[in-house]
Amino acid sequence: MINKQLRAAAESAPPVADGLPPSIHPQVFQHTVNQADMAISITDVQGNILYINPAFTRVTGYASEEAVGQNQSILSNHSMPRELYQGLWQTISHGEHWGGRLINRRKDGSKYLAELSISPVVSAAGEVLNYLGMHRDITEVHRLESEVRNQKALIESVVDAAPVVIALLDVDDRVVLDNHDYKKLQADLGMAEPAPILMSAVRASLELDSGRGRRTSGYLFLDREVRLDPPGGRSPRWFSCSGSRVREDDTSADAFLASQGRDYLLLVAKEITSLRLQQEKVRVAALQVLMADEDRVSGLRESLAAATFRLEGPLNMMASVVGMLARRKGETDAMSVALTEAITAGQQALKDLRSMIPGETREAIGAVNLNELLRDVLDLSTGRLLAAGITVIWQPQAMLPALQGAPNKLRSMFKALIDNAIEAMNTRGCRERELTVASKARLGGIEVDIADTGPGIDGAQILKVFEPFHTTKRGGCHLGTGLSSAQQVVAEHGGFIEIEPTTTRGCRVRVLLPLDRRP
Ligand code: FAD
Repeated sequence: MINKQLRAAAESAPPVADGLPPSIHPQVFQHTVNQADMAISITDVQGNILYINPAFTRVTGYASEEAVGQNQSILSNHSMPRELYQGLWQTISHGEHWGGRLINRRKDGSKYLAELSISPVVSAAGEVLNYLGMHRDITEVHRLESEVRNQKALIESVVDAAPVVIALLDVDDRVVLDNHDYKKLQADLGMAEPAPILMSAVRASLELDSGRGRRTSGYLFLDREVRLDPPGGRSPRWFSCSGSRVREDDTSADAFLASQGRDYLLLVAKEITSLRLQQEKVRVAALQVLMADEDRVSGLRESLAAATFRLEGPLNMMASVVGMLARRKGETDAMSVALTEAITAGQQALKDLRSMIPGETREAIGAVNLNELLRDVLDLSTGRLLAAGITVIWQPQAMLPALQGAPNKLRSMFKALIDNAIEAMNTRGCRERELTVASKARLGGIEVDIADTGPGIDGAQILKVFEPFHTTKRGGCHLGTGLSSAQQVVAEHGGFIEIEPTTTRGCRVRVLLPLDRRP
């Protein structure tokens, strides 16, 4: 029966043997079509069925004798848009292949989703003679696809609704997936991708902690606090970051036999800025008290040091006078005795004074975030800056690696430099009052630039100002120890400090501190 139908179809079709290798008998084609697992039908140019294979019967429920002679529209559920069929017919009647998905109805009235492919059988003259239809029931595939899509949409909406920043990063720190809060952070910071910046800060903190072996139970890192300094001098923001490894199975053909996969890092960052700001307020207030105390002590230290320095001069002079008198007369007279006594008393007084100089307190060395430290100094100087009408331009690098140092010493050192700048600008005649503080990672260290728009330092004085007790200021209240102390602190940290000669007004102090040189 089937062979009869195929023969009928073949009679209206061009000879099948076109290009057929002699080793393959034309009947092989009949068997192939009969036994194919796909529903196959051959129609005339009107879509009237001439032949169906057994798989067609299995899928649709129509036996061959019920289908042959009927139009393919017996499978139509009449629920697809009319334009779809118009498009289908327009395509195939022009001799082109059509493929698509349709809702079909079986003989028993049940619906299924068919993936249909129609190929026109064209004569050598280009005339369409028949159509070859092949379709599969893909209802289950579609159900699974929809389930995956729904699950993806569900996961995406959960991830989007989560009140934390979420980003999935590939091995090169490229963001491959993110959520609503991440996009908001991008817009707030005006940065293309904040995630790699957060990650470099996390890595730096992990490096610092290496060997301490914090337990992170399944996470690559957990609750790592990271500080971001947005460009434009805006307030810093803090995030608590956790990360875990996510593996995606490779779906390419290469991975069919040996399962392969790609590793990703799921970064979850919870903003803790408001909490940290409260802590910061308390910390800065405590710092203010501490710094005032330190200022008093270092003021006392410097005054005593200056007093001893000034006393040494006359005492030395007196000692040389005594020596001269002794050489000239060859004997010691009453004046020499009196002078010697005065020198001895003076040296004792000097000794007493020196013993009164408060010693330096030893400070623990630890990880220092220079942005945080500079911000502290600016916060501590806010009152003076406002009073002097100085505009502050704060240009931190968004993320700075931590350096090993003595935080209090460094803070006092930068405070002294900023105090100098304020003082330089807070003079009559200085109209433009701008203080620029910038930080950036450079040459395995961190460079801090402090520039003011004051009168600047004369080229000849640039090196001298670092000498102890050298001051360019008139009036007796300046000891001239600020820059020499600053130089000492910088040297203790293995760095260097210089004053850049400027062609215009102002003074620019540059400090370079290495990251890992312990003082
Ligand atoms: P119909 O009135 O049959 O057709 C709708 C529109 O199609 C018409 O307005 C007209 O513009 C166009 N059209 C119909 N017949 C022709 C024609 N001979 N020449 C030019 N334009 C025409 N449909 C299914 O729903 N499921 C299937 O599995 C399926 N398989 C097919 C397999 C083959 C090989 C072919 C050739 C067609 C197949 N079709 C199938 C399409 C089917 O023939 C119908 O066009 C369709 O089912 C719509 O039927 P209808 O009764 O709703 O509208």
